[in-house]
Amino acid sequence: MSVSKCVSRIEQSITLAITAKAKAMKAEGIDVIGMSAGEPDFDTPDNIKQAAIKAINDGITKYTPAAGLPALRKVVAEKFEKDNGLSYKPEEIIVSCGAKHSVFVAIMALVDEGDEVIIPTPYWVSYPEMVKVAGGKPVIVETTLENELKLTAEQLREAVTPRTKALIMNSPSNPSGMVYTKDELLALVEVLRELEIYTISDEIYEKILYDGAEHHSIAFLDPKVFSRTITINGVSKSYSMTGWRIGYAGGPLEVIKAMGKLQSQETSNPCSISQMATIEALTGPQDSVGKMVKAFDERRTCLVEGLNSMEGVSCVKPKGAFYAFPDFSAHYGKSVNSKVINGSVDLSNYLLEEMKVGVVPGAGFGTDAHLRISYATSMDAIKKALTRIEEGLKALS
Ligand SMILES: *Cc1c(COP(=O)(O)O)cnc(C)c1O
Repeated sequence: MSVSKCVSRIEQSITLAITAKAKAMKAEGIDVIGMSAGEPDFDTPDNIKQAAIKAINDGITKYTPAAGLPALRKVVAEKFEKDNGLSYKPEEIIVSCGAKHSVFVAIMALVDEGDEVIIPTPYWVSYPEMVKVAGGKPVIVETTLENELKLTAEQLREAVTPRTKALIMNSPSNPSGMVYTKDELLALVEVLRELEIYTISDEIYEKILYDGAEHHSIAFLDPKVFSRTITINGVSKSYSMTGWRIGYAGGPLEVIKAMGKLQSQETSNPCSISQMATIEALTGPQDSVGKMVKAFDERRTCLVEGLNSMEGVSCVKPKGAFYAFPDFSAHYGKSVNSKVINGSVDLSNYLLEEMKVGVVPGAGFGTDAHLRISYATSMDAIKKALTRIEEGLKALS
């Protein structure tokens, strides 16, 4: 007897492994600075909390339709229209248990055994594993620093085969913080409009932008691409609501229906109380988003400048999300205490064990030269972490 082939072919997330290790050290009383978190460190805004309390008091505590409350699907359709210029009918919207769940059901609804899904590096750790669960084949396309770690039209054209079913896009990007410009997306759209493939566009960091960067939904740029794109978003990152578990998607009716069918057999509905809170998040005052972004912006500058002042570290200033993604590869091959640092996993283990700083190895995102360092933490912690990382690097020879 053994567990399923499906589970056997996927890997345990190394990001979660290192985060668990950092937490265990903290529990032992060790002063670890955690820079591996994938969530804002702010509290959920009070108007949203109050809406949830009201939902409980009003008795909105029962099952809802599997695809979400009709009132919320309508609000999400209005959000897509207002923020992204995307016209979805409420029945072309689905609400899921987090954007991660939306991505998962989208993949399960589209990908058959042996289908190929194009995923550019650096990718969010879950995409390739989700494709594998569906029986599909992740086709990893390596981007270059020269192109700011973004997929080019030429690379996309080369990666497509008759088995290609979908492309996964994520802008602003976790982990690189890069944001595709309108022109860069238009170049990809030129290729996509000639192809019979779907695009899954994960836009969860859409509101976390810096230096005047603008977010563009790829589905907005071409009607043909719109008809084959599943646009995914959620409230976790913009409204500091990671624990509430609400994500959503808009897309072609037949795909959204298929996703709803899966959810009806899988999770039933997303939490009714969280759905009511999401209506408030999307329709209520938006000033908390700007305040959060302003705080992230100051930390971003401090962290990136600190990293770039270190020898053998190079960090492109991120334009979105809340991660720095510096290249540390100049230090690979060096050693400390007769142990060789052979890549990002060794380096992040060393930084955690010896310097007590928790960061995520780039290997988990398909780019071993880098480490992902979250700045969703206090300025004080960032400054301390910079000192420790620099000290750690100086000890390598
Ligand atoms: C955080 C994150 C998500 C998922 O967020 P949920 O909490 O599941 O809504 C999806 N995609 C990326 C790239 C993320 O970083």
